[in-house]
Amino acid sequence: MDMELKGRVVVGERMDVVEGTVVVGEDEDDAGRIVEVREEAVESDDVIVPALVNAHTHIGDSVAKETGRGLPLDEVVAPPDSHKHRILRSTPRNEKRAGMRRTVERMRSEGVGAFGDFREEGVEGVRDLRSATDDSPVDAVAFGSGPPEVLDIADGYGASGARDDEFGEERETARERGKPFGIHAGERDPDDIDGAFGYEPDFLVHMVHARDEDLERLSETETPVVACPRCNLVIGVGKPPVEELVEATTVALGTDNVMLNVPSVWREMEFVSKHYDLPDEEVLRMATVNGARAIGLEDTGIIEQGARARLVVLRGDRSLADVQDVVAGVVRRAGAGDVKNVVLR
Ligand SMILES: [Zn+2]
Repeated sequence: MDMELKGRVVVGERMDVVEGTVVVGEDEDDAGRIVEVREEAVESDDVIVPALVNAHTHIGDSVAKETGRGLPLDEVVAPPDSHKHRILRSTPRNEKRAGMRRTVERMRSEGVGAFGDFREEGVEGVRDLRSATDDSPVDAVAFGSGPPEVLDIADGYGASGARDDEFGEERETARERGKPFGIHAGERDPDDIDGAFGYEPDFLVHMVHARDEDLERLSETETPVVACPRCNLVIGVGKPPVEELVEATTVALGTDNVMLNVPSVWREMEFVSKHYDLPDEEVLRMATVNGARAIGLEDTGIIEQGARARLVVLRGDRSLADVQDVVAGVVRRAGAGDVKNVVLR
């Protein structure tokens, strides 16, 4: 028996709202795929959206929530001797894994189907992430750090930034293995942006200080950017120029360090929607399909025939009751309390 989900369905890349039924395949050939989105009158007032994608996190620092606030960027997160790295070194492995597991379960229960994590601590760091996520249906895309051998087990490479180190060998290894290479850039100032572009990254994280020439380069190279505006505020580096970034390239959203910012994609969407002048559909794309593409996931973050069945069913009788524009309601009002069911096939 196929699974059927009924309600107002946010369909396709355009995020069109359609009343009807999403059919999820259970048979061998189409198991875990969306078989059909059938437009029809339904009784349900549920709202069905793609499972959210948190395209940039550091869940390894889950054990250090609400510490490091007020410190300058380098002192709070930069390798190897910042506040964050000292805490990671001094916390027993089982505690770090337990903290990560709690964060992933929190994200799942709120409707996150995938996240891209920049994991500190090299090979061991990726092992910890795997151990904390192996029994979860959430796609944990691990961007490893340290020597290139980390790419033996990581899904990609996550470079801290062009001013911290040289990443030529790591970049080459990622290319050889067909794995994505991402790098932080332009978080504190524009000085590390040229260096980051030099690696021809598959995506950039932050770009708070993108200059006109950087926007042009993003557009020419079609390099996606993961913006993390709420965490940028906590660190005090300013607000990324999200509207300009969206004009230039594909933009996704991340919540960045769990230590500094709660990993809620709902809150990130609301924040972006209220701080920037962007269509609601664009904000929802940033939190779903754009994020999936930025971190290298296919057929994810979108509701259409053939895509993976990774969906969130939102109840229509709380925040979304009486909302006239469904996508606006999802982006600006919905939250964890509206999640009825998270389907991650
Ligand atoms: Zn980061």
